[in-house]
Amino acid sequence: MKLIIQIPCYNEEETLNIALDALPRQIDGIDEIEYMIINDGSRDKTVEVAKAWGVHHIVNFRRNRGLAYGFMAGIDEALKQGADIIVNTDADNQYCGDDIGKLVAPILAEEADIVIGARPIDSISHFSFIKKKLQHLGSWFVRVASDTDIPDAPSGFRAFSRDAAMRLHVINEYTYTLETIIQAGREKIAITSVPIRTNAELRPSRLFHSMRSYVKKSALTIIRAFMMYKPLKFFGIIGMIPFTMGFILGVRYLIYLASDPYTGHVPSLILAAILLLIGVQTFIVGLHADVMAANRKMIEEVKYHVKKMEYDGQE
Ligand code: UDP
Ligand code: MG
Repeated sequence: MKLIIQIPCYNEEETLNIALDALPRQIDGIDEIEYMIINDGSRDKTVEVAKAWGVHHIVNFRRNRGLAYGFMAGIDEALKQGADIIVNTDADNQYCGDDIGKLVAPILAEEADIVIGARPIDSISHFSFIKKKLQHLGSWFVRVASDTDIPDAPSGFRAFSRDAAMRLHVINEYTYTLETIIQAGREKIAITSVPIRTNAELRPSRLFHSMRSYVKKSALTIIRAFMMYKPLKFFGIIGMIPFTMGFILGVRYLIYLASDPYTGHVPSLILAAILLLIGVQTFIVGLHADVMAANRKMIEEVKYHVKKMEYDGQE
């Protein structure tokens, strides 16, 4: 059983050593632990720090490509290196390294394929009141969109089994966290969550620049993932709104018409027709998206088998 712990890094020379030192050297049930960093175009001494510390693998980008891309490149490299379990954590020592044992336990017990470390969000002192509420709200949306019960969706402290890692696909460029959960829910991958501890803040977040951009990017990510993975439901709900309004207006017109054959109300009749049409059209867009989603599913399946052939030389 080989575990690779990966850390995406963007200008992390100051905290990387602390984070690496905090990682476990051995875990019950794991024969071998290797450490990997993904250098996301850092302009400081991140790579030198990692080399001096002695990490086993370094994935290097010449320019900054964003966390989602770095995360996926790390997963691919870990698979190539023969990892049976991959753990992702942050370079700012945000998550408690000692809890990696807890994170991999459900995978070792063959109870889950993805384990998300749930932070005690309400008791994290450096999160503002609004950030706490937003994280809860985001997690709630992800739970609805994914049909899972993951309490802390934006958490970057996660473990993946080899099989689950081969099934991950991330389209979004901002963050992989929400999309992977929605995907796991849709693909019925066994996903679970364990409570973990966090450490004091060593530097401000690189992803949370301002409240507005965070909310905007997270909301867009969730909407996009919902649209991609549950197209009929998504467009069905959106189409229902104009359709219902048009239907009510139409019935209202018919009632008027029944009592007076020369009733006016033509503008409302036109509006009803337009609303009904928009509703039906939106539903038809949903049907198109549903067909595309079916294609995507097949491509995902092919990608999974290609990865299995490439990394495991079988099937
Ligand atoms: N990160 C990265 N590329 C980026 C931004 C961040 O690889 O463009 C890394 C960063 O070095 C850190 C992890 O992603 O290890 C999470 O970033 P951060 O801790 O700032 O985010 P937060 O914990 O606030 O979500
Ligand atoms: Mg962090």
